[in-house]
Amino acid sequence: MKDKFDVIIIGAGPAGLKCAEQFKNSNLSVLLIEKNKIIGPKICAGGLTNLSAKIDFPESRMRSFNQQIFYLKDKIYEINLIYPLRVIDRYDLGQYLVNKIKDSKNITILKETIAKEIKKDKIITNQGEFYYKYLVGADGSYSLVRRFLGLKSEISIGLHYKIPKITDKIKWYLYPKLLWSGYIWIFPHKDYTDIGVFFNPKYLSIKKAKEILNNFLSKNNFNYSKQNSEAAPLNSLYKGCIFKNIFLIGDAAGLVLKTTGEGISSALISGQEIGKKILNPNYKILNLNKVLKIKKRQEMFIKVVDMFSFIQKYFLQIFVNLMKIKRFQLYFGGQTCFKD
Ligand SMILES: Cc1cc2nc3c(=O)[nH]c(=O)nc-3n(C[C@H](O)[C@H](O)[C@H](O)COP(=O)(O)OP(=O)(O)OC[C@H]3O[C@@H](n4cnc5c(N)ncnc54)[C@H](O)[C@@H]3O)c2cc1C
Repeated sequence: MKDKFDVIIIGAGPAGLKCAEQFKNSNLSVLLIEKNKIIGPKICAGGLTNLSAKIDFPESRMRSFNQQIFYLKDKIYEINLIYPLRVIDRYDLGQYLVNKIKDSKNITILKETIAKEIKKDKIITNQGEFYYKYLVGADGSYSLVRRFLGLKSEISIGLHYKIPKITDKIKWYLYPKLLWSGYIWIFPHKDYTDIGVFFNPKYLSIKKAKEILNNFLSKNNFNYSKQNSEAAPLNSLYKGCIFKNIFLIGDAAGLVLKTTGEGISSALISGQEIGKKILNPNYKILNLNKVLKIKKRQEMFIKVVDMFSFIQKYFLQIFVNLMKIKRFQLYFGGQTCFKD
């Protein structure tokens, strides 16, 4: 096997796969490496919002909801959505994206290949060394490429269960006293319900968060005794995507939205934009800039909620009421800026 490539992408999550797709049938040689044996599975609830409303993933393989329900302080807020919130299984999403590139002659995909060390012109993996002209770090929230660039990360945690019970409503539970600006979600999938807690480890240990989630499940008659909980970090500290010939996308770039933990859309968008930028250095990354604008806007909100703990519940009350207004939904969640 050859060991020199124009582009090496580390990580076959939505960011890396979408980036690789941009090089399909181009004259650049591309190596995409993934440490896992199977592409797709990831600890994730699979919710897709406004930002990727135009993903061309088959509707038949998603569930789509026009309403979401917020619970705050014994009150229930039913919110009709301007863009439906969709739920997608991560195995399905990974397989769908990899199928788009698997027959492309200029793209080599190596699974069970772990990047262990980054050098300025090559990567060292368990399958040998590979040289690059351009390196793309799509290796998630514990990115090796990010660490090579000397960038810090800011981590939130998502902890969830896949409960084998079919449910029909998207629900968010806000408990400012327990979770600060975090929340518990219920996302109904086709053959299970994803239920989890999103929180900032600055305010809560994983042990405590799990205890809160388990109490919630028992109280709401979800039997989790036979399921294993799974947790993973989410990096939301954005420091840039372009570092000369090295690029960061998705969670590796800190593109997770700190308010909700949403990261699939920004992974897809940044993957697409950076792929185009490598192909054409004059390409303007306008869609990525739109995501960054939304991210900044939402992070202002989180800052206020976490800063003034004594008024958190009132602030969240105002927020859920504002969410009833369609123009606010677009302002807060952003307009769709991703198109396959
Ligand atoms: C519990 C939980 C729930 C979530 N729910 C949602 C949600 O509902 N909606 C949403 O939008 N986002 C959600 N997220 C966030 C979402 O999962 C991520 O933002 C998204 O997966 C980022 O995509 P990515 O391609 O950047 O990284 P990843 O999906 O993490 O992909 C990175 C890939 O790189 C590979 N890799 C890592 N290191 C190496 C290495 N050294 N060598 C080779 N390969 C490597 C990994 O195996 C992985 O396949 C959730 C996260 C958690 C933890």
